[in-house]
Amino acid sequence: MEKKRVYTFGNGQAEGKADMRNLLGGKGANLAEMNLIGVPVPPGFTITTEVCNEYFEKGKEAVVALLKDDVEKSIKGVEALMKSKFGDVENPLLVSVRSGARASMPGMMDTILNLGLNDEVVEGLARKTNNPRFAWDSYRRFVQMYGDVVLGMKPVNKEDIDPFEAIIEEVKKAKGVRLDNELDVDDLKTLVVRFKEAVKKQTGQEFPSCAYEQLWGAICAVFDSWMNERAILYRKMEGIPAEWGTAVNVQAMVFGNMGETSATGVCFSRDAATGEDLFNGEYLINAQGEDVVAGIRTPQQITKIGSQRWAELQGISEAERVAKYPSMEEAMPEIYKELDELQTKLENHYHDMQDMEFTVQEGKLWFLQTRNGKRTGAAMVRIAMEMLHQGMIDEKTALMRCEPNKLDELLHPVFDKEELGRARVLTRGLPASPGAACGRIVFFAEDAAEWHTNGHRVVLVRIETSPEDLAGMQAAEGILTARGGMTSHAAVVARGMGKCCVSGAGAINVDYKTRTVEIDGVVLKEGDYISINGTNGYVYAGEIPTQPAKLSGNFAELMELCDKYARLKVRTNADTPRNAQDARGFGAVGIGLCRTEHMFFDDEKIVAMREMILAKDVEGRKKALDKLLPYQKADFKEIFKTMDGLPVNVRLLDPPLHEFVPHDLKGQEEMAQAMGVTVDYIRQRVESLCEHNPMLGHRGCRLGNTYPEITEMQTRAILGAACELKKEGYDPHPEIMVPLIGILYEFEAQEKVIRETAAKLFKEEGVEIPFKVGTMIEVPRAALTADRIASHAEYFSFGTNDLTQMTFGYSRDDIASFLPVYLEKKILKVDPFQVLDQNGVGQLIEMAVAKGRSVRPELKCGICGEHGGEPMSVKFCHKVGLDYVSCSPFRVPIARLAAAQAVIEESL
Ligand code: PEP
Ligand code: MG
Repeated sequence: MEKKRVYTFGNGQAEGKADMRNLLGGKGANLAEMNLIGVPVPPGFTITTEVCNEYFEKGKEAVVALLKDDVEKSIKGVEALMKSKFGDVENPLLVSVRSGARASMPGMMDTILNLGLNDEVVEGLARKTNNPRFAWDSYRRFVQMYGDVVLGMKPVNKEDIDPFEAIIEEVKKAKGVRLDNELDVDDLKTLVVRFKEAVKKQTGQEFPSCAYEQLWGAICAVFDSWMNERAILYRKMEGIPAEWGTAVNVQAMVFGNMGETSATGVCFSRDAATGEDLFNGEYLINAQGEDVVAGIRTPQQITKIGSQRWAELQGISEAERVAKYPSMEEAMPEIYKELDELQTKLENHYHDMQDMEFTVQEGKLWFLQTRNGKRTGAAMVRIAMEMLHQGMIDEKTALMRCEPNKLDELLHPVFDKEELGRARVLTRGLPASPGAACGRIVFFAEDAAEWHTNGHRVVLVRIETSPEDLAGMQAAEGILTARGGMTSHAAVVARGMGKCCVSGAGAINVDYKTRTVEIDGVVLKEGDYISINGTNGYVYAGEIPTQPAKLSGNFAELMELCDKYARLKVRTNADTPRNAQDARGFGAVGIGLCRTEHMFFDDEKIVAMREMILAKDVEGRKKALDKLLPYQKADFKEIFKTMDGLPVNVRLLDPPLHEFVPHDLKGQEEMAQAMGVTVDYIRQRVESLCEHNPMLGHRGCRLGNTYPEITEMQTRAILGAACELKKEGYDPHPEIMVPLIGILYEFEAQEKVIRETAAKLFKEEGVEIPFKVGTMIEVPRAALTADRIASHAEYFSFGTNDLTQMTFGYSRDDIASFLPVYLEKKILKVDPFQVLDQNGVGQLIEMAVAKGRSVRPELKCGICGEHGGEPMSVKFCHKVGLDYVSCSPFRVPIARLAAAQAVIEESL
């Protein structure tokens, strides 16, 4: 059988239906469905998304030939229903031609309205409607839209304005009027003539007057718009494949601009910003669709309550509101009643919040579109939970309705939406740590801390950050770096702090000397305001006010519902009691990674830490470690207390050593004095610690194995803190984790130190604390030999940052130099440091879990790399049977939701 390419709808009948959105696009499928459930829709037809692919394979002529019979037959069907004729002078049928992809791509593709008009038909329309102004206004809009979309009438130079707008401006100027609607019929006629002349001049073509020629031009232009730059960009951002194609919807025009009994509007079955269950929207009497969004006239509210709220915000009195801006409920009560009934019908039918477009033509209501409405994170949660309570959807549907990453909006401050619209975008980097931050630029961590103390909000702008910047990062509202990927120092630390960060913004040129940053020709100096959005990576000039995040009761309830379904537990990566507290508040059931090197950053501790690293020999190191012990113990005590009753997985020291030592003369002098040695000695030690590949150098368990006294001190600090707490009545659950092992013996040697130290300590303390010793699996060799390792290690935690680094051979710190090109060229689909590479790194994880459990069936396995909070990666972790994921505090709710969805998806 010949492939069906055209699906008709109208008068309560349709060849398509809602579940055919892949073939008919979202709009086409819903137009069909609306017909089937009795919602009035102007008749028309949909050309399928498959034809779009044929169009790009076979070309224009071939596809027009394939469609010709079906399209002409379908137009005849529409003519019969509308009792008018396409191209007829006395009783013309006009149509709209619109795109409609499988996924909504608002505003990305082209639309043509009022198609079918020409110099004769316009006169007929004027006579038929007895409204020449309407007829000529429709005609000039059509010539303008068609000229732009189909005939490619764009500005010649990029500085020029739209050629049609330029003509409108000239005509208005000559007449001495300001607004389009001050133009009369003769002016509109002049516009049409001049528009056509401009088309002829610029394109060399006559404006087509044959209705069918216009139609084919428009259909092909809509297909072409699938490949326009903005559509391609949008698809890239949203991950929509080019093969999906767009459908084309051709539909009888209905007019909202035929006088005072006509209107047009947009409405939502619930509030898309807050989620409140309140029908709302905007409309305009005697207007066409684009007038509602064009901002020339102030649209009015649909409901009375919406109108009253709007007037209050605008400072408009009730009397003025009723006189000038009455709601549709008040101005057209009967139509309003029908609209309200139909919107309820649509929401009940689709079981989701609807975003609808309608037109009233001379007292008759028509729906032009319905779709599931886009919404904020807050609205997403509220709508899902309220629909669940209202019995409209079940628990699983409520959970699947919520997009894990969107929960983020509920947790961090956000930019004020209106202000954002006015802000200037400077550049875009990696969305390293979500949230919105705005403050004065500082370039140095000390300045950040100082300015903060003096009451300024600051954004720390750096080429890259290092552990020495931590206090400054803490003091800053947000961090912007020129270099570094999603697991760079700045990104990991910022996420841990729940602090907004944009990293790897390659277009920014930081000049520390002049204390300026140049971005795309704009030079900003220290103290200037800058705003950054860590959720999407945008960097803005100036100050954009933020709004604090609000957590609602629905959100907590959603989280409880997640726990009812999820198998995977969610822990957190936390190095401070504050982090641990935040994460526990978000429902973390333990700490999956406490990076102990992050605990040494305040002034006193860093000196002792440096002393330890720079020490000449074991004696010197032990002396420094004795100083560090009480600090560590005190910190662990606080963390264990915060996580009382829950497991806390503490990782032994894993720092690239050179990052911790002073590289400047002043710092070296200070250390020389503190240690009673010469500056020369310090300098030489610092130099000797420099490595060509620090990420592959003297770090992880290599440090503990070369300097076992460090492991000994840390074990004493961890278990000593636990002993003290136990005596105070707390219930600590310590786990000690050995990082970066590749061979079993690396683990065994460390385990021996830990267990011997523990035995001694417990004897001294007179208490015994049950604890586990496990390891990170972050070197490919460890994954390959996981069965051997599990014969000793009591648990595994996959360090997917390093495992990704070493599996791909991409340096975590340097990936920003080539990643953008790799993504651009589609060599990589996503940043593997953000989204777990399931085929490669994932295979190592799956294999290591299986091998480990083959010798130790009860082996607990978790993940603590940055992927632990990324929804797709979390779902993968569920699939391969991990016990938990661990992520930064602000990602805990996201992981909880993804974990629940993983279970539900299994049963779909
Ligand atoms: C990892 O490598 O995934 C990990 C969690 O450790 P770090 O990021 O501290 O190297
Ligand atoms: Mg690691």
